[in-house]
This record gives sequence, C-alpha cells and structure tokens, in this order.
Amino acid sequence: LTQRLRPFGETIFARMSALAVATGAVNLGQGFPDTDGPAELLRDAQRAIGEGVNQYPPGPGLPALREAVAAARLRDHGHLVDPATEVLITVGATEAVAAAMLGLVEPGDEVVLLQPCYDSYPPAVAMAGGITRFVTLRPDATGRFGLDPDELRAAVGPRTRMLVVNSPHNPTGTVLTAAESQAIAELAVERDLLVLTDEVYEHMVFDGGRHIALATLPGMAERTLSVSSAGKTFSVTGWKIGWVCGPAPLVAAVRAAKQFLTFTAGAPFQPAVAAALGRDTAWVTGMRTDLQAKRDRLCAGLHAAGLPVVRPQGTYFVVADIRALGETDGLAFCLDLPRRAGVVAVPVQVFYDHPAPGRPFVRFAFCKTDAVLDEAIDRLQSLT
Ligand code: PMP
Ligand code: GLN
Repeated sequence: LTQRLRPFGETIFARMSALAVATGAVNLGQGFPDTDGPAELLRDAQRAIGEGVNQYPPGPGLPALREAVAAARLRDHGHLVDPATEVLITVGATEAVAAAMLGLVEPGDEVVLLQPCYDSYPPAVAMAGGITRFVTLRPDATGRFGLDPDELRAAVGPRTRMLVVNSPHNPTGTVLTAAESQAIAELAVERDLLVLTDEVYEHMVFDGGRHIALATLPGMAERTLSVSSAGKTFSVTGWKIGWVCGPAPLVAAVRAAKQFLTFTAGAPFQPAVAAALGRDTAWVTGMRTDLQAKRDRLCAGLHAAGLPVVRPQGTYFVVADIRALGETDGLAFCLDLPRRAGVVAVPVQVFYDHPAPGRPFVRFAFCKTDAVLDEAIDRLQSLT
C-alpha cells in the first residue's frame, strides 16, 4: 500500500456494516435508507435496460441528465449553470470530490477541511498529494456544532488552494446559518480560494429551515464547485449517480481527472434520474417530512435510553453524547454496542484528524423504517 493511503485503513462504514451482519444487530451505522426511491424512477431504469440503454454514455454524462441537473439547480437554489460546460455527471458524490482534488490540487497545496468531516475527504486530498488543514466545528451552549470564522481564517495560509464545506453536515446534522455561509464566502473571496461544497443532503433540511447554496453568494459562482447526488435525493444510494456544477474551467479540470478514473457513469440510471429531477418535487418533499418524523422518533428513543442528543437540523444522522452513560470512548462503545444492546452505530471520532474532540460522540442513522427504528430504540433501553 502506498504511503499516501497507509494512514487511512478501512472505511468505518464497511467496518460497522460488517459488524452488523456478523452480530445480527440493527444497523443504524452506515447511512442508507432501507426503503426504495420513487416507483417511477425504479421503473424508468428497468425500462432503460430493456430498451438497450446499456452502452457507454458520453463521458460528461447524458445531455438530458446534465440539463435536468441544471434546471433543478436553478429551481431549487437559484444557481444558474450551463448544462453544456458547467455540469459533470460522476460516479456518486464521492467521485466528484476525488476528481476535484486530482484535477485542481497540486502536490503540496493545502486543502482546508471542517472536522468532523466525511471520511472520503482526507484520503482524496492525500491521493492528489495535497496537505490537509483542519478546522474543528465545536458544540455551542445548545450542543449544535458550529463554525468559528476566526478559526477558519487562521487555517488559511499562502498555500491554501481549496476549502471543502459540507452542509447539511455529516455527521453532526448541522445546517450552516446565513452568517456562517457568508463568513465562508467572504474569506474565500478575500483569499481567492476554490470552494468545494458537498450538498448531498441539500433536500434533507428540517423544521422549515433552508439550505443555502454557497455558489449563489456574492463572488462565489466563479470559485465554487457544488456537488450533489441522486443517491440521497431519491434514496438510491447504490446507483452511484452524482454530479458537480461550477464554472466551466473548474468543471473541465474535474472532468480531466474523471475521464481517466471511470470515463462515465452507469447508463440506464442516467435517463431515469433525469426524469425524476424533472418531475414535480412532491416525492422529495414527502421524504423530507417522513425523515423529520423519523428524526424525532429516534431522538426521543435515544433520550429515553439515557443518551442525550442535539436535534439535527438536517441529514440522515443524529449524534448522541455517551458521557451521560458514564462512557468516554465512542469507538470502544460502538464496538461493544452489538453485544450490549444489539445495535450498530458509528463513532464520531473517526471523522477527525485526531480522535480527542469526537470521543464522546456516537452517530445514529434514522433513514430507516419505523419498525427498524422502534426495534433499535427498544434494544437501546437496556443501556440504562
Ligand atoms: N458526501 C457526504 C457528506 C456523504 O454523507 C456521502 C455518503 N452518502 C457522500 C458524500 C457520498 O455520496 P455518493 O454515495 O453519492 O458517492
Ligand atoms: N454516507 C454514508 C454515511 O455517512 C455512507 C457512505 C459509504 O458507505 N461510503 O453513512
């Protein structure tokens, strides 16, 4: 294994899902829904296979899908992009992130990450030969993980090339406020940074809150790559259809890397996702309403089990504080949780460059049927 990959080991999601299978525990670890996406979407993909949409699509993605992505960006966020040159279809958001690093980060360039961060970002930076700089999101008096603009400013230096932002945020469930978003945008403009925004949870914002697309703030369109994914929007995480939107020169750089990683993305899924994006937004709205109820169900259950939580503003995830149970180490807690309670969760400490700030926190996914959530909640009551 190369030196640049040696620090990372096996992704926590594979490790914890394997643990769930091996122990028969209820899996609230890896974030994937246990119900399928909209019936028309599934039918359209099956039909596409039957109709012979089975060979390589164009490298940048099926034109109809790029057009649908551009139309949805405008409809949902007021972000105007040209489908011909400013949209690239990728193999999930994960490939978009990795190809952006490979296409835009020189060896020795610094990339600023807000931690805890999604586990693919640090290895993606490392594969490009970049250097990671971490800014730590810290719980405020209410427990919400927020961004300190001064800490962010301090992390940006002369070699900083890119800032990666993820909102709604995995694992904390934080949705960046207008003030936090503005602080990021002002710094990026002042220091002439590229910004990669991972918006895969763009539609999972609760309590009437709003997702702000950073690309729509002043001075940001020309420096921002906005990433999202059909996996999350339509509950088809296994399809691995994602996209990145941004100014043509930046998208061309991502495409330059993507063409030699995977060349294109799955053919029959692309027309199906294009049609789904173009339909009315009722299915996505319904999913958001359902997810919000699931969030509340799991939060109440965790609370009853002696695990205090901060109600997340978005995403699939809720973070619990295990100190209330007299525990100090989330990794040890999660490795023992299948035996103790028959449930799998994810330790938040793995999403940091060093475990200390994340040790007391454990992430539970609520994108599951009510019966599965209730079974997990029932089992967790044995903790107290
Ligand atoms: N970014 C974040 C923040 C995620 O939580 C995930 C996982 N769902 C991804 C990217 C990966 O998305 P995809 O499956 O589309 O590659
Ligand atoms: N994004 C999902 C999570 O955070 C998992 C994705 C994966 O398994 N790589 O749980």
